[in-house]
Amino acid sequence: DAKSEPGNQIRLYHAALSDDAAQMAKREAQVRAVIRNNQVDVAYQPMLDLVSGRVVAVEALVRMPAGTIHPDTPIDSNHMVAIAEARGLISQLRRQVFRQAAATVAALPSSIGLRVNVSVNDLKSPDVVDEILADTASAGIDHQRIAIEITESALMTDEAASLANLQRLVAMGSGVAMDDFGSGFSSLERLGRLPINAVKISGSLLTGATANPVSASIFRAAASLGQSLGVLLVAEGMETPAELELARAAGISRAQGFLLSQPVPASGLRAAINAAEAAAATLARAA
Ligand code: C2E
Ligand code: MG
Ligand code: MG
Ligand code: MG
Repeated sequence: DAKSEPGNQIRLYHAALSDDAAQMAKREAQVRAVIRNNQVDVAYQPMLDLVSGRVVAVEALVRMPAGTIHPDTPIDSNHMVAIAEARGLISQLRRQVFRQAAATVAALPSSIGLRVNVSVNDLKSPDVVDEILADTASAGIDHQRIAIEITESALMTDEAASLANLQRLVAMGSGVAMDDFGSGFSSLERLGRLPINAVKISGSLLTGATANPVSASIFRAAASLGQSLGVLLVAEGMETPAELELARAAGISRAQGFLLSQPVPASGLRAAINAAEAAAATLARAA
């Protein structure tokens, strides 16, 4: 048939490539427009304290606003962040997320803190701490109620500037959590000298840990390392009751995941917090 003719195959291939390129350019333009127009949306995922059974924090996760997402070509937050980093818009993205999230959390009980992800090209910025402080103050929340989440790859570049910003945050009483611990670039040597007060063990270590003894050992090793550092231990990506039990047995004190709550829009956050606490109570009774 026509497809099997070499010339046609090449034309089809080119058509597919330029389709992809056009799609990519369109998505990138959408993301840039959303950030430039201050339209970034935020979803919130509750974090549960496994001892008290209460929600102690919510994590802000950037989202494209409703209406900009084509069903065939969803743009996830990793993708948004990558585009923002590449285009010099990452600080703008962080401020938009932070301002909305701080206002949302200001309306919650003061026992509930805010966690915001801060990425590689942002953490080294000389203004990042001042901006976080300003945005926290204008929302009327105490900066001790906030913590940032960083991934270790974030510290590969401009380490001195990034470290100074982390030290300043910790000295003021804000939190710094190492996100996705145990995946990717984790270096144990580096972990020991970073000013962090929490470690979020990667959901990828939990996945399979309930079925596979080797995975379970790796998960427990990550937990005991965190314990020896004296930091708060969070398990992310908690999807099943068995994973919750495993985390509890490994001495993890906090958990986040679809088992407790999906990330939800601000309008659904109170309901999600209540539902997560109810789910935790039910799971504790079943255990
Ligand atoms: P993260 O900070 O590790 O966030 C956790 C991710 O796992 C979120 O994906 C969340 O929706 C998802 N998740 C939560 N519970 C579960 C679960 O039980 N199972 C599974 N499979 N997934 C779960 P999301 O929102 O797509 O974010 C992906 C990553 O993008 C984040 O990973 C974070 O690194 C980055 N990110 C998100 N929002 C921001 C932001 O505002 N700023 C920056 N710099 N990065 C952000
Ligand atoms: Mg995070
Ligand atoms: Mg994570
Ligand atoms: Mg999992």
